[in-house]
Amino acid sequence: MGRRHVASRLHGFGSTIFAEMSALAAATGAINLGQGFPDTDGPAAIAEAAVEAIRAGDNQYPPGIGIGPLREAIAAHQRRFYGLTFDPDTEVLVTAGATEALAAAFLALCEPGDEVVTFEPWYDAYTADAALAGAARKTVPLRAPTYDFDPAALRAAITVRTRFVLLNTPHNPTGKVFARDELALIAELCVEHDLLAVTDEVYEHLVFDGVHLPLAGFPGMAERTLTISSAGKTFSFTGWKVGWVVGPADLVTAVRTAKQWLTFVNGAPFQPAVALGLGLDDAVYEALAVDLREKRDHLCEGLERVGFEIRRPAATYFVTVDVRSIGEEDGVRFCRSLPERCGVAAVPSTVFYDDQLAGRSLVRFAFCKRHEVLDEAITRLKVLTA
Ligand code: PMP
Ligand code: GLN
Repeated sequence: MGRRHVASRLHGFGSTIFAEMSALAAATGAINLGQGFPDTDGPAAIAEAAVEAIRAGDNQYPPGIGIGPLREAIAAHQRRFYGLTFDPDTEVLVTAGATEALAAAFLALCEPGDEVVTFEPWYDAYTADAALAGAARKTVPLRAPTYDFDPAALRAAITVRTRFVLLNTPHNPTGKVFARDELALIAELCVEHDLLAVTDEVYEHLVFDGVHLPLAGFPGMAERTLTISSAGKTFSFTGWKVGWVVGPADLVTAVRTAKQWLTFVNGAPFQPAVALGLGLDDAVYEALAVDLREKRDHLCEGLERVGFEIRRPAATYFVTVDVRSIGEEDGVRFCRSLPERCGVAAVPSTVFYDDQLAGRSLVRFAFCKRHEVLDEAITRLKVLTA
């Protein structure tokens, strides 16, 4: 009927590529290495705490900013891992995953016509969030294979309309962990141009090489940065959708104002469970990262044996391959046919790029799966090059 609708401006109209590939995997019985979610639960103590909370009656609306113990646990987490101090009552907000925190930040901070600077490839929600807020995006390419960026390109992306720089580190889909000197440069430019920063740090604990540094810790950044993260990735409970945003009180209040018209509140029984999780020993965090590193190595080595040229990630759930290395050209066509051809699903990286040529032959595989599942996926993928 050709009806005009705001949804047509949202990237991935109808469903995201993650949802499409998960549905295709389910329909064909393929091993789903597309959408990033683990196939095992996180620590039992955290799951038990959620069950107990339901039994104890934590089943009605929690406070809009999140329950006190969780806000305190988030503040304690920022202090413990990064030495950053936040007031749990005014500088911490619990959200329905990082997804809501990002959308609410865009809606709270951007007027139509404002600009947001992101690196490219970007996480797909950023384009949709910008469209929802009527904001324009300016992108700075991360240059393969090292995924560094040209400082001049970052400077050129900043204009008088720039509202904030949106930084995702550790980075989906590349697995890059932004280095100290890169972060220092981003911070310097934010201070010089008096810009806000919004950081998406959902993979902060899933780092295998290098060290994750929050941008908020750089000189002049604490008063201008909203830091977003989520329990989903850290503790392998992606379906719980408990995230948060921390930063200066005025910015957190602005995000809260948007959040209250999006979900109002979320995740009552999961909030005390995540509070417990955040307080667990370093050994729990380390064990999750060590386990995931082993999975990264296993899938990377398997993909190389199949004949793929891979980009080995320093962090996250994901490894990117270039399908030209096995004689293919087009990642979208490759991913749409892969479940039928060999019973595996992956995600075409074009969904993370404006520049369709840059992402055309790249495909992202998730390695946050059990050893035997990765083994079976590798065996199936071998028919591509046999
Ligand atoms: N940011 C990035 C970079 C992600 O990969 C994801 C995927 N989970 C999100 C945000 C969304 O996180 P959540 O599931 O907590 O909404
Ligand atoms: N962050 C997940 C990924 O990159 C997807 C989450 C979603 O489906 N929105 O795979």
